Amino acid sequence: MSDFIACTIRSLPDHLLIPAAREACRINPANAPALRAVGDVPLPPAHIAVLTGKYWGAGGVHLSISFLDSPPADLRARILAHANAWGKTANVKFSEVASGGQVRIARTPGQGYWSYLGTDVLQVPAGQPTMNLDSFTTQTPDGEFYRVVRHEVGHTLGFPHEHLRQELVQKLDVEKTVAYFLRYDGWSRATTMQQVLTPISQASITGRGTEPTAADQDSIMCYQLPGSITVDGQPIRGGADIDAADAAFAAKIYPSAAVPPAGVRALVARMLADPAFAAANGAWADAWLAAHGGG
Ligand SMILES: [Zn+2]
Repeated sequence: MSDFIACTIRSLPDHLLIPAAREACRINPANAPALRAVGDVPLPPAHIAVLTGKYWGAGGVHLSISFLDSPPADLRARILAHANAWGKTANVKFSEVASGGQVRIARTPGQGYWSYLGTDVLQVPAGQPTMNLDSFTTQTPDGEFYRVVRHEVGHTLGFPHEHLRQELVQKLDVEKTVAYFLRYDGWSRATTMQQVLTPISQASITGRGTEPTAADQDSIMCYQLPGSITVDGQPIRGGADIDAADAAFAAKIYPSAAVPPAGVRALVARMLADPAFAAANGAWADAWLAAHGGG
């Protein structure tokens, strides 16, 4: 674990918190905090901003990606492919652009791995990174692309850290955890308290609904933490790839376009039987039928 680089979720500066909360609610009204939960007492705007979700809307996540430091084409393609791994089950698609992407990836060594969360990405000033992949190169072991790139992209999709669930935070010995992150990541006590030891509030995981779900130690959003810092000596396994629960959750909050009813597919198939229609529309209609479950 000597080269263990932990991930931090980047927070916007204070002056951008309220505009970010407003934008998050505009993009996805479900991000508005459930104010009923805190009664009828009006909350100060800054407090509301903290309670506001960061999820993109049910229309899915279609974002452009650019790189700030001109990595070679094969590295760019590899990072993009891992980002799009979330699209296997969910309506998620990242497309590379030469510059000025909505997601901007830097590789600044020594800064660690980090990303802004969900809709906050759009508030980051132009030209500044929204994600850092430390010193990723084509020589980086393949497993790290699964563990790190997919994890950071999960933050871009709005997913918080799974190890901040109350039931996992409770497993950690506070002093041992503080010492561990100081030693391996140089983190101050305050950073470790904020990033590892403060359980996430139920309000900030809006996307999981009101039903509490069990913490998933195999989630790609969960840190791997050694037994030496847990109360019971059992490690927290941590995810090495998008697991089935992650994939299902992503599909639930960013559902792929619904398959059209069989009647619509049959209608297109019938229209294709008309030679004039087929001559003019065959190419797209065949592709459409193939993409939507055949005739
Ligand atoms: Zn993270």
